[in-house]
Amino acid sequence: MNDQNDKITTASCLCGAVRFNIRGDLRPVINCHCSQCRRTSGHFGAFSGAPKNALTFTEERGLKWFQSSQQARRGFCSECGSSLFYDRKNAAHMAIAAGSLDGITHLVTKSHIFTDDKGDYYELSDDLPRHGAYPG
Ligand SMILES: [Zn+2]
Repeated sequence: MNDQNDKITTASCLCGAVRFNIRGDLRPVINCHCSQCRRTSGHFGAFSGAPKNALTFTEERGLKWFQSSQQARRGFCSECGSSLFYDRKNAAHMAIAAGSLDGITHLVTKSHIFTDDKGDYYELSDDLPRHGAYPG
C-alpha cells in the first residue's frame, strides 16, 4: 500500500486494436528463451507482469488467444500480430510483453529463463542470472 499503487501504465499492440492499462507496479522483466517464446516473439520473450485484476482493457477488438499448451494461452493482436500476453492457467498474474508498454517504464531486466532452449545464433553477454529451465 503506497502511492506507487495509484500509478497507471498504458500499453498497446502495434496497430492499437488492443490497448490496456495496468494499475500499480509491474514486475521486473524476465527474458524467456523457450522455443515457444522464440517463435511467437520472433526472438525471445521479454515479459513484465502484473496481477490479472490490475489489467483493464480500453480496446480489445483485436485481442485473440492461442492455446499454446495445456497450461497456458498466449494473447496477441489478430490485426497486427503483436505478441502481448502469456496467461498461465489458474495463475493470479499475467505476463505482459515488455515491448507493449508505453514510454518510460522504469523497469529493469532481472534474469534469463529457459536458456537451455535458446537459439544458437545469439549469445547472452550480460551478467544477469540464467536459468536453464523455469526456476523453482
Ligand atoms: Zn494490433
